Amino acid sequence: MAILVAEKIHKYFNSLEVLKGVDFKTEKGEISAIIGASGAGKSTLLHILGTLDKHDSGSLTINNRNISNLRGNELSDFRNKEIGFVFQFHNLLPEFSAKENICIPAYLAKNSSKQIEARSLELMELLGIAHRADHKPSELSGGEQQRVAVARALINSPSIIFADEPSGNLDSKNAEELHSLFIRLRNELNQTFIIVTHNNDLANIADKRYEMKDGKLISFHQEANLL
Ligand code: ADP
Repeated sequence: MAILVAEKIHKYFNSLEVLKGVDFKTEKGEISAIIGASGAGKSTLLHILGTLDKHDSGSLTINNRNISNLRGNELSDFRNKEIGFVFQFHNLLPEFSAKENICIPAYLAKNSSKQIEARSLELMELLGIAHRADHKPSELSGGEQQRVAVARALINSPSIIFADEPSGNLDSKNAEELHSLFIRLRNELNQTFIIVTHNNDLANIADKRYEMKDGKLISFHQEANLL
């Protein structure tokens, strides 16, 4: 089942055409990796596919919903329920505990407290961070902070998780653990991921690889060797 379909996506920043007709499709339970040189437009595409930014022309459908028809609160509710984000810098709120950070999207979605409690405990167990639940982000290691960010992305059981350089700020051991976690989440929860990365190991474990080049996305089958 295609969970996201983007067709002929164009994006301009003033006179600069950054995306020149991008076609992209992903199925449920698939990990897609997008690689490419800096400035090629990868983050711009990720933000558009993740509904954080608007394309100038083309169409985007997620879970059979035409995103162009969604506005204001309807769009932010859709994003909060259907999409999770993991960024290079985890963007956790420093004054809240790990557990509170994880639960914020579920409170915004107005889920019941009982349901939020059960789901956050389940996720913290799954991700091996239950013993760190009451700690603030500054008291956690880089790898733990990123796992909290992954749990926060998963709390509303989103259709897709978008990740922008998720292991870019981690040492090689923590990066490897994060990549294994993505594979586990795909295998155990059938979780779909769209990931922008410069990391060869991460690109190589993806089910589908693409390269962003000259404002277009091309399918890329060989083992990545970018570094
Ligand atoms: P990548 O993620 O591949 O490094 P980006 O999507 O960040 O590339 O950027 C692609 C191009 O678009 C770059 O030339 C960048 O300077 C430009 N760009 C990105 N965001 C903006 C913006 N908000 N305003 C103007 N230009 C932008």
